[in-house]
Amino acid sequence: MIEPLAQKHGISVTFKPFATDCYIEADRTRVKQVLINLLSNGIKYNKVGGTVVVENSQAQPGSIRVSVRDSGAGLTAAQLALLFQPFNRLGQEASDEQGTGIGLVVSKRLVELMGGVIGVESSVGEGSIFWIEFRLTTEPFASAGSTETATVSLEQLHDGEPVHTLLYVEDNPANMLLVENIIERRPDIRLLTARDGKSGIELARTALPDVILMDINLPGISGIDAMKILAIDKTTAHIPVVALSANAMLRDIENGLKAGFFRYLTKPIKINEFMYTLDLALKYAKRDKQ
Ligand code: MN
Repeated sequence: MIEPLAQKHGISVTFKPFATDCYIEADRTRVKQVLINLLSNGIKYNKVGGTVVVENSQAQPGSIRVSVRDSGAGLTAAQLALLFQPFNRLGQEASDEQGTGIGLVVSKRLVELMGGVIGVESSVGEGSIFWIEFRLTTEPFASAGSTETATVSLEQLHDGEPVHTLLYVEDNPANMLLVENIIERRPDIRLLTARDGKSGIELARTALPDVILMDINLPGISGIDAMKILAIDKTTAHIPVVALSANAMLRDIENGLKAGFFRYLTKPIKINEFMYTLDLALKYAKRDKQ
């Protein structure tokens, strides 16, 4: 994924292999987003003919650290202090040409939400090392199934298993984060996520969630097309699909409902309306199951 950007900037990227397999408990998509953020920064804020080296180490027992080392200009102590602050211009994140959509501030938030740590070491004239660190966990049972895309709510579930499953198909990290935060307050709901219609459909077919929340503007097939595909598949046809879209014109809403959405919510997400609709859809799903 990162190779075209590296080539464009004339940077060579090296990934040092892991000595042994490591497992962490984290959201696969989020970890990937964070790594892409660190990698693209390492490439963009580098020198011509520079290098980016990705290494792993056990900085502390029971944890794994993945470091992204660049050969850029490095950062002063004053710059380092500002790095993870919102609204700073230092990282020039507003002009993110690659469009990964997330910057260092969001990366830090995501890593910490997943129980990890993010940090940086830098020396002026030599370059910077950005790293993330997570606690190691045991190898999951192979039979645990679709750990590929399935993600458990970031909330630690203390009191038994969640009874409902919600699949959220969304490509916008900010909306995803908001819904994750809302669902964290609902330990009865397990949240699965997908970033595009195709993987959303796959996950719906394997996980059979109680309710699906579908963004409309998605990369690849649209949320409307994804919903239609689910509606003609007899394994998923019964699942209520709630649209969540920035297209807030009355005509968009009417078209959405006509297409077969259970409800049509517009962005920005209104928490009360969201919770009410979610409960309504869960109730509907339950009735349908009986
Ligand atoms: Mn979208």
